Amino acid sequence: MKILITEFRQESNSFNPVLSSLEFWRQTGEYEGERVRKEFEGQQCAIGGFFKALNEKAPLAEVVCGTVMACQSGGVAEQSVMDHYLSKLIPQIKESLPLDGVLISYHGALMTTEYDDPEGEITRRIRVIVGDKTVIAVSSDLHAYISDTLISNTNIILAYLTYPHVDYVETGYRTAALALDAISGKRKPVTAWVPVPMIAPAAAYNTLKGAFKEIIDYGRKLVAEGRLIDFSFYQMQPWLDIPKANSSVVVVADNREQAEKYAKELASLLYSKRHDFRIKLTSVKEVIERALKADTAKPVILVDSADSCNAGATGDNMAVATEILQYGAGLRSAVVVNAPDAALKAHQIGVGGEAEFSIGASRDPRSMSVTRQARVKSLHDGVFRQEGPAGRGVVQRIGRSAVLRIGNLDVLVCEWMAGNGDPQLYRAHGIEPTLYDLVVVKASTSFRGAYEKLAGTICEAQTPGAASSDLKSLPFTRLPKDSMYPWADITNPQWEVAFTAPLY
Ligand SMILES: [Zn+2]
Repeated sequence: MKILITEFRQESNSFNPVLSSLEFWRQTGEYEGERVRKEFEGQQCAIGGFFKALNEKAPLAEVVCGTVMACQSGGVAEQSVMDHYLSKLIPQIKESLPLDGVLISYHGALMTTEYDDPEGEITRRIRVIVGDKTVIAVSSDLHAYISDTLISNTNIILAYLTYPHVDYVETGYRTAALALDAISGKRKPVTAWVPVPMIAPAAAYNTLKGAFKEIIDYGRKLVAEGRLIDFSFYQMQPWLDIPKANSSVVVVADNREQAEKYAKELASLLYSKRHDFRIKLTSVKEVIERALKADTAKPVILVDSADSCNAGATGDNMAVATEILQYGAGLRSAVVVNAPDAALKAHQIGVGGEAEFSIGASRDPRSMSVTRQARVKSLHDGVFRQEGPAGRGVVQRIGRSAVLRIGNLDVLVCEWMAGNGDPQLYRAHGIEPTLYDLVVVKASTSFRGAYEKLAGTICEAQTPGAASSDLKSLPFTRLPKDSMYPWADITNPQWEVAFTAPLY
């Protein structure tokens, strides 16, 4: 048995004005050959799950490690990024033929300057080379955008079942294990897909409680009862301004009838919950007032999801910090911001030095900046390991970074931002969140796994930015608003079922 594995992942955001260049992608590294195994085997990621399944189920298989490229979320990717990936991957595939399987790790919500659906196009090109008999299996984020091109060129596709995402390995494993069973002839799974005409703000649901947990639990029950082999609910990340946007449902069953039946049922279920995926946003001033009145020693977490780099925003907005300085100067507060100039200046001045810093609006001219006298508290290389639970042990890099102190406000300035939802973004830089009154977290939901344990209160704030939860305030121009919730509310959608490529 011969299997090729590869990864190409980013979550793009149409409203971030800064394109994601190849240089930006390379900050996260690029791997191929044995370096892939060395870097990712045993790690908390989808490829780690691929290796786990291969080691357990097909220890004698020949594994070809194709190119692995992953990037922090950001603006739409320059086409040169996809071209570069394909210039590496296509020869790797051609040299490896014949292949029994190709295992791909995508995020699934990538957009390039030329393709709304690069993952569909890449998979189509892979299919042309490997032929119809090779099993192509895709592991993806549950925030992926799923297209008919992707579905018709894939045999198996599965997504995370958790949000905050804590099942990277499991998802890679589920995908690879099913692919290996299909290759060995043990099983002939049928995968059905139904697009659902809705998008929802990512901060408005999670799998810890509420409506989204209920539907995931129902899917798990169907699997436990043996009615389905597997399933995925895709809540397309809502900052892609594309004409064929959708959320969707994927189910894997033993036969076509079961697959079709449950795909429709789960699509109805997801759509019936659309009104539940709402979020109550509180003004920043009100959150600050809550922190001023708080009578517990635990910090108030101000969630600034609109400026979340995890969701592809620029992370360079000091709008919240401006209000903290104005209304909450007495609070011990912490904020993180993409501010490469300020970070470099801090490194030039050195620890203990004081100067006037201009912080923020380094990427998006619509972001706010703050110009203040600040003291350099500490300097860092910006390399840290996440504490998890999501992605525990994963190394993140935020470039040269520094903590600047303005009165009671500690500002972590960095060249770029990563690992937003993980407390180590602060802790590794000398900011212990539990010792602060108010901590700004620039993430949608990923932070909940860790922060719910240490927070006094968590407040989703009404803030400006490319990843705003107020979807109707965003400047969509291509999205089909006439047929898409929350703009349109169709009462009885007709479910159209499509199937992945047949297995031979
Ligand atoms: Zn996601």
